[in-house]
Amino acid sequence: MSSIRYDWTKEEILEIYNRPLIDLIYEAATVHRQHHDPTDVQVSTLLSIKTGGCSEDCGYCSQSARYQTKVERSELLGIEEVRKAAKSAKQSGSSRLCMGAAWRNVRDNYEFDQVLEMVKAVYDMDLEVCCTLGMITEDQAKRLAAAGLYAYNHNIDTSEEYYKEIISTRGFEDRLKTLRNVRKAKLTVCSGGIIGMGESPEDRCNMLLALSKLNPHPESVPINGLVPVEGTPLEDQEIVPIWDMVRMIATTRIVLPDTTVRLSAGRTQMTDEGQALCFLAGAGSIFAGDKLLTTPNPETSKDMALFQSLGLKAQRPYQKGEKPTVDEAVYKTHSERVVKIKWSRPGHTIERNESASCK
Ligand code: SF4
Repeated sequence: MSSIRYDWTKEEILEIYNRPLIDLIYEAATVHRQHHDPTDVQVSTLLSIKTGGCSEDCGYCSQSARYQTKVERSELLGIEEVRKAAKSAKQSGSSRLCMGAAWRNVRDNYEFDQVLEMVKAVYDMDLEVCCTLGMITEDQAKRLAAAGLYAYNHNIDTSEEYYKEIISTRGFEDRLKTLRNVRKAKLTVCSGGIIGMGESPEDRCNMLLALSKLNPHPESVPINGLVPVEGTPLEDQEIVPIWDMVRMIATTRIVLPDTTVRLSAGRTQMTDEGQALCFLAGAGSIFAGDKLLTTPNPETSKDMALFQSLGLKAQRPYQKGEKPTVDEAVYKTHSERVVKIKWSRPGHTIERNESASCK
């Protein structure tokens, strides 16, 4: 049985990543079977609760207000719309609803209070609840946990070195700070990244190295293939080859044996056979629904047909963890302590982000 390690080196991870693919898949599949039921797949539905108009300059994102994309800005959804989406996610076999807001960071205002009520509403429907709302403080994470949140997503995106080439409006350390705040609130952590942004294999391995240093490891690591969106600085990037996707999933599987590896964005760019290889190499989760925030995703019926062909089954809610306990007094009460975290503004410029924002 492979052990959980926090002392991986960059060289070790790179050596795994560069193994002959046939050997790499075999080892990853072996590790997967030691730590997970390979026929079990956790299915999440991702719902955008507040779309577009974000002040950040993430080079891959259609929701940044800096770029001319086809995404229209919208206000925060109402609770009934969220309930409706949760009901349909549950009916289509999802065990988790992940709600995403295009914010730099959470503010202690009425919108956050509304998100807390959304979390409670979805929790009451017996679904696992996840949020991805940008950077958060420890107090905010604790209020989310008290409202019934199960997981918080905050991707580190890429290696610390390459991060500076993709985003100039916040630093890599800000990401890690939010992940620490999430852990302090005893929430499960979902954090991964994107491949196909022009990074090198070393960057991919350094991203995994950074994740492997988190103790405990994230419960879930999404591996996204970039979906190049017109108008963003990365619009001309080539679609990441399927072999890179399989290689990355297999390496993640070996480095983080207990973690659920989430085959995330980019599935519409893959064949069924390509996705099957990803499941074989250790992917244990997908996002369902025809949209991932703003980018396309396979239809649920297509996914279910694939599950049937491969003999996969969707997990039940809380199959891998305990249902949280709601504490109304905590989630409804604003902290008396006003926490003014200074998130960074690195201030460097990224040429392709600058030119995209001038279009
Ligand atoms: S990835 Fe998130 S933080 Fe970055 S621009 Fe998009 S919505 Fe904003």
